Amino acid sequence: MQLVAIRLSKHWDYLKSGIKPMSPCQTFIETLRSQGFRITPQREMIIEAIAHCGDHIDAEQVFVHIQARTHSVNIATVYRTLELLVQQGLASRIDLGKEHVIYATYQHGPHIHLVCRQCGQVIDADQDLLLALNKRLSAGYQFAADLQHISVRGLCNECKMK
Ligand SMILES: [Zn+2]
Ligand SMILES: [Zn+2]
Repeated sequence: MQLVAIRLSKHWDYLKSGIKPMSPCQTFIETLRSQGFRITPQREMIIEAIAHCGDHIDAEQVFVHIQARTHSVNIATVYRTLELLVQQGLASRIDLGKEHVIYATYQHGPHIHLVCRQCGQVIDADQDLLLALNKRLSAGYQFAADLQHISVRGLCNECKMK
């Protein structure tokens, strides 16, 4: 499955919140520390791996990447750390179907993946759709939605015709 390009957006929510730009992994590590999480060297390596890749990554890829440096990290720690980033709003988890779950930090930028549940192809949709929905939710419900990175499942045009 080809997943495309690194998208760099100029306005991350958390950069707007007044944190001075430092390397993204340092920002994540500092944010987690300030919230009282203990950042072990293992966790640090995992955060570095996802922050530096700038694109989607799955837990297996993070694991393989880290195995090159140390064998002291197990896959469960990788999952837990990625989930911690998601929980703290520093990364998003996207389900691409067929048990493929990917993670991306907000450096990846706001966008939508349309996932065909029939053939599995992933189409990138216009991010303006997200911005529009975000605005409506904010205006109508004073709700700050985590809508930077979502996947929508359905049928692609070809599969719909079959
Ligand atoms: Zn994405
Ligand atoms: Zn399809």
